[in-house]
Amino acid sequence: QTYGRQAILQQRKRLPAYQARSELMKVVAENQVLVVIGETGSGKTTQIPQFLYDEGYCRYGGLVGVTQPRRVAALSVSKRVSEEMGVRLGQEVGYTIRFEDRTSSQTRVKFMTDGILLREALMDPELDKYSCIVMDEAHERSLNTDILLGLFKRILTRRRDLKLIITSATMNAFKFSRFFGNAEQFTIPGRTYPVDVMFSAIAVQDYVASAVKQIIRLHLRSEPGDILCFMTGQEDIETTCEELDKELTDLMKADETLEPLEILPIYSTLPADLQAKIFRKSKFRKCVVATNIAETSLTVDGIRFVVDTGLMKLKVYNPKLGMDTLQITPISLAQANQRSGRAGRTGPGLCYRLYTQYAATNEMFAEPIPEIQRTNLSNTILLLKYLQVEDLSKFPFLDRPPIETINTAQYDLWCLGALDNFGRLTALGKKMSNFPIDPALSRLLIISSFKQFQCSKEVITIVAMLSIPPIFIRPMHDAALQRRSDSIREKFQVAESDHLTLVNIFNLFRSNGCKESWCTKNFLQYKSLRRAVEIHSQLSQIMKSQKLAILSNPNWDVIRKCLCASFFHQAAQFKKHGEYVNLRTGLQMRLHPTASLYGMGDLPKYVIYHELLLTGREYMNYVTAVDGEWLCEFGEIFYAVKEKGLTSRENQARKERDFTRLIEEQRK
Ligand code: ADP
Ligand code: MG
Repeated sequence: QTYGRQAILQQRKRLPAYQARSELMKVVAENQVLVVIGETGSGKTTQIPQFLYDEGYCRYGGLVGVTQPRRVAALSVSKRVSEEMGVRLGQEVGYTIRFEDRTSSQTRVKFMTDGILLREALMDPELDKYSCIVMDEAHERSLNTDILLGLFKRILTRRRDLKLIITSATMNAFKFSRFFGNAEQFTIPGRTYPVDVMFSAIAVQDYVASAVKQIIRLHLRSEPGDILCFMTGQEDIETTCEELDKELTDLMKADETLEPLEILPIYSTLPADLQAKIFRKSKFRKCVVATNIAETSLTVDGIRFVVDTGLMKLKVYNPKLGMDTLQITPISLAQANQRSGRAGRTGPGLCYRLYTQYAATNEMFAEPIPEIQRTNLSNTILLLKYLQVEDLSKFPFLDRPPIETINTAQYDLWCLGALDNFGRLTALGKKMSNFPIDPALSRLLIISSFKQFQCSKEVITIVAMLSIPPIFIRPMHDAALQRRSDSIREKFQVAESDHLTLVNIFNLFRSNGCKESWCTKNFLQYKSLRRAVEIHSQLSQIMKSQKLAILSNPNWDVIRKCLCASFFHQAAQFKKHGEYVNLRTGLQMRLHPTASLYGMGDLPKYVIYHELLLTGREYMNYVTAVDGEWLCEFGEIFYAVKEKGLTSRENQARKERDFTRLIEEQRK
C-alpha cells in the first residue's frame, strides 16, 4: 500500500496543475473569484480541491465544495481524490448526488452535482458551511451552473470570506471572468502534442458501422496506443461494442497471432464498477467507447487515437410536444477540437472524424448552445421564485434565456397551481420547490396527501419507480428466455395501468426481502429496484419534513384519480386504430409496446401518460386508463368542468387569455 501511495504521488507530481501549485495558491489567496483555465487532463479537478485542503481552507470547519455538471464525474472523481488522499470515500472526501449522499460529519472536501449545490442554496442562501467553492467544468454551461453563477453575484458581496474558483477548459473562459467584473484568470501551463486530423471524404451513412470499421483498421495497424471513440449514448455504444466484438472474434479465428482488444463502454447509467474499469491498466490495447463525458470530464491516460462521430445527444425543448427531448445533433467546432485533443496528451496522436470537412465548416456551430437557451425552465423558474427573484428580467444571467421559454415555464407552473394570477409563488408552489423532482411529480406527491386522496404511500412508490432506469430485463438472442420473461412480466401487471404495475412490483420486491435472487428469477433489475427503495425513503422524509401525511389507500381508483389531478396536461383520447390524441395539444400519439394496455382489443377512451418516447413517432410511455369525468373534475384548467365530451377548447382558450394578461402585466 505504501508503494501504491508513492506511485500515486509520483503520478500527481507529473501533472501540470501540481507543478503550478504554489503560484496557483498565491493567486487564490489574493482573489475572491478566480477563473482557472487548463487543458483537459492537467489536474484541475483532482488536484485543486486537495491543494485547498492542504492549504488550510477547511481549517475552521469550512468545507471545500466542488460541483460537477454530471453525476458520473462527481462519483468517479471523488473516488479518485479519496484514493490520492489515502482516505475512505465518505470520510474526509465524499460526494452527494441526487438521492445519494456519501458524506459524513468528517467530510471536508465534498464533490456534488451543480443541482445539489443549487438545492442547498435554497435552504441556506449564503452557503455558510463552505469556505471555498470550485465550480468545475463551467465551460459545459449546464443550466444549474449558469443559475448558480447568477446567485453567486449576490452571495459573494454578502460573504467576503467565501472563495469562488471557476474552472474551465480553454473554450468560453473569458466570459466567466467578464461576468464577475473582470475577475483574475490563471492559466495552467500545459503541453500538448500535435494531432493529425483526418476527415471523411464523403458523408457517412451509418456512423456505428464506419466507427467499427475505423477502429478495426487502427487495431490491425501495429503502432501501440489506446483508442477513444465518441458515440451519442447507451444504445449506439452498446451496438458498437457488440459489433466490434463480433468482428474481432471472426478475425482472430483467421489469424491466431492477432492481439485482443479490450473494449470498454462508458456512459452515465453504466454501473459504477464497470465505469471504473476504463481507468485500469490493461495488458492489451484499450478501446474506450464513450459519450461526450470523455470530452472534458473524464480523462483516460494513454489515448493516441480518437474516432469521432461528430454527434452527441442533446436535451432540447420541443414546443410542439411541450417537453424536453433528447436529440442526436452535430457537435460544435469547439467540441470537435476538444475531442481530437484527447489524442495528443502523451504524445503525437491521430483523429479520425467520421464527417466531411465541408460539414465541419458549414454545418457546425462555433460553440455549443448553453442549456439555459434550449431546455424547459419550469423547475428553474420555480426555484428562482422560491428565492424571491420576483422579476426574472433582472436576474443576472450569463446568457439570457429566450422570453418565450420563460413564459412557457411560467404558464406550465401556473397550470399546476404553483403560481397565482400575479406570477407569485402559491403555498402549493412553495411546497413543490422542496422536492428535487419535476414540478408535475412534486405536485402529485403533495396532493396525494390531500383529504380526498390520502394515497401518498402508493404515490411515493410511483414517483420513486419513475425516477429509476427501466426495470425489466428482456434477454437478447434467446427466444425461450424471452417468452419466459414476457410471461412473468404479464403476471406482475395491474389491469390497464403501468403506474399501478410499478407499485405492485415495488411492493413484491420489498415483501420478498429486497433480494437479488428474486429479481434475477423474475427478470428485473436488482440495482434499479434497490435505488427505488432508497429514493422512496428520501421522498418520504421530505414529505414528513413538509408535514404531509403518508397514508396508504387500498382503493386503486383513488390513485388513478390522483394521477389525473396532476397529469391532466398529459391526457389523451382514443381515436382509432391504436391512435390517441393529446386533449390539450391535439398531438397524435400511440401506446408504447411495453405499455400494459398495448395490444388490448378494447382500448380505453381516456388515458394519462408519464412521458413521450420519440422513435420516428410519438409513443406514450407509462400509461394508465382513466375516466373522462375525472379529467373534467381535476383538469378544469383545460377541460370544461362538468361538461361531458371534453371538447370545450373554449374553456382552455379563456384561461389562457387570463394567463397572457398576467404575463403582460408583469412585463410592464
Ligand atoms: P482535469 O480536471 O484538468 O481535466 P483531472 O484532474 O480530471 O484533469 O485528471 C488528472 C489526471 O488524473 C489524469 O491523468 C487522469 O487520467 C487521472 N485520473 C482522474 N480520475 C482517475 C481515476 N478514477 N483513476 C485513475 N486516474 C484518474
Ligand atoms: Mg476536470
